[in-house]
Amino acid sequence: MIKFLDLNGQYQKIKKGIDGAIADVIHHSAFIGGHYTALFEKEFATYQQAEHCIGVANGTDAIEIVLEALDIPKGTEVIVPANSFIATSETVTRQGYRVVFADVDPISYTLDPVDVRRRITQKTSAIIAVHLYGHPCRMDDLLKICVEFDLKLIEDCAQAHGAEYYGKRVGTFGAAGTFSFYPGKNLGAYGDAGAIVTNHQDIANKCRMIANHGRIDKYDHQFEGRNSRLDGLQAAILSVKLPHLDDWIKQRNLIASTYNQRLSGIKQLSLPSTNLHCYHAFHLYVIRTENRDELAQFLNKRDIQTGVHYPIALPKLAAYDYLGQGQEPMFANLTDSTLLSLPIGDHLSIDDAIEVSTAIEIYFTTR
Ligand SMILES: *Cc1c(COP(=O)(O)O)cnc(C)c1O
Repeated sequence: MIKFLDLNGQYQKIKKGIDGAIADVIHHSAFIGGHYTALFEKEFATYQQAEHCIGVANGTDAIEIVLEALDIPKGTEVIVPANSFIATSETVTRQGYRVVFADVDPISYTLDPVDVRRRITQKTSAIIAVHLYGHPCRMDDLLKICVEFDLKLIEDCAQAHGAEYYGKRVGTFGAAGTFSFYPGKNLGAYGDAGAIVTNHQDIANKCRMIANHGRIDKYDHQFEGRNSRLDGLQAAILSVKLPHLDDWIKQRNLIASTYNQRLSGIKQLSLPSTNLHCYHAFHLYVIRTENRDELAQFLNKRDIQTGVHYPIALPKLAAYDYLGQGQEPMFANLTDSTLLSLPIGDHLSIDDAIEVSTAIEIYFTTR
């Protein structure tokens, strides 16, 4: 069986470290805040080349807290990509802004700067750039747009731990970057967890206070905040995993390049490619084919698991009927029925990637 994800397999390889870390946290009752959370925040800031890291409860909260910290005028418009997970857009609405979907480009599946520019109005206040599938967005173009129109830029890095743009890790190109450590992400906790990174001291302070009841001291609450904290157990688990992350990404990228080589001759497929000056930290390897469902079934019969990210483009979700963008002839709206995510991860070998590729070749030569 070639699994899409194998968290238990990964655990077995690092079991001693994980079990020890969990026992330590329990021994010290360092469940909320404390040593392990502070340590991981420091380690992750260093890893992402950011000055500050604030652990939070999950990647969705991370986006919402950054939006709140930036104090953008309510009722204004925030541009988000039409291909992402709903967390990117629902947080915008929850904070009192209007979602505006912009298209993604067919090469990187990240925000198309040309379409972003088209959608800017007097009311636009911010852009959320999603480094989807681990591929960095065109930050130079997006930053130029943000300067020109005085917009805030947030990076949703939930799928892009370790990804680089011009040799610099993602997350600090704009106001702040948000991360998810959902178990299936490239760096995953054993439950929900997330983080915010930023190089701006004031944004860091504000985010930390919002995430912890608006306080600066135990009972000194400067404003009403909320409870969104990275707990000690998850932080300690993440600290054990972080030193492995670069190797895991390398393994994922090796699987991706094996797919690239083996599948490049199949005309019916569009393969992912990487823009210049980008270090793609592959979270998902997404191909496009008109025969998506049939191919997925064929692979499934051969014990090869696949996924779809995402089966319904955000503008076409019932949740966004009110925006009326589901009918627009955007790439994202037109291609959601053709996307297929092949298995990728540190649990796979090159031989596994060859087996998957061979099965795909057989499908297209025999159908
Ligand atoms: C996973 C994900 C999130 C949300 O993270 P959670 O930790 O599950 O809340 C946000 N944005 C993107 C692009 C994601 O893939």
